[in-house]
Amino acid sequence: MDKFERVKEIVRELLELIGEDPSREGLVDTPDRVARMWLHELTSGYGVDPNDVLKYFQADKDYERHGDLIIVKDIPLRSICEHHLLPFFGYVHIAYVPNDKIVGFSKFARLVDVFSRRLQIQERLTENIADFIYRKLTPKGVMVVMEAYHTCTIVRGVKEPMYMITRSAKGTLSDEISRIEALTLMGLGKGRIFADTAYR
Ligand SMILES: [Zn+2]
Repeated sequence: MDKFERVKEIVRELLELIGEDPSREGLVDTPDRVARMWLHELTSGYGVDPNDVLKYFQADKDYERHGDLIIVKDIPLRSICEHHLLPFFGYVHIAYVPNDKIVGFSKFARLVDVFSRRLQIQERLTENIADFIYRKLTPKGVMVVMEAYHTCTIVRGVKEPMYMITRSAKGTLSDEISRIEALTLMGLGKGRIFADTAYR
């Protein structure tokens, strides 16, 4: 049996074990749908090398002289918490002070996607992204801030939407003043996701 068929089988078995009838009309196609979702969407990041998505270009001399802090805000985030296999979602904001390598907007979104389409915890995901950018672009500094709601706190446990902000800073952006400046420009801490999405 190939991997896809095995996952389908496991989902069918799970349905049985929770007291359901996998052969009833509403559930007949569920194992197929769930297997497709897990293998092709939620964990598709395992099969992608982040080096292939973060293409950069060399900054010209003019930029090198005048360039300073660059902030890319509101990159959508969707990932799966490894403790409960439930989604967490929100936004990622990336600040960096380039040396000579610059990245287009969409590349950061692709990079976030590669690391978030895996089982994660928010703290490690934030670190993964900051660390990769720091090594690949060798900027003077980088800071990644992530704000997310964890559905595992909404549907179980405390049953309240818990909002978490994590940060990873490296190089020049890890000093106090630069960090405060970048955070201010990112304009965080307003519970924006709450206003923006399902909870409106
Ligand atoms: Zn969780």
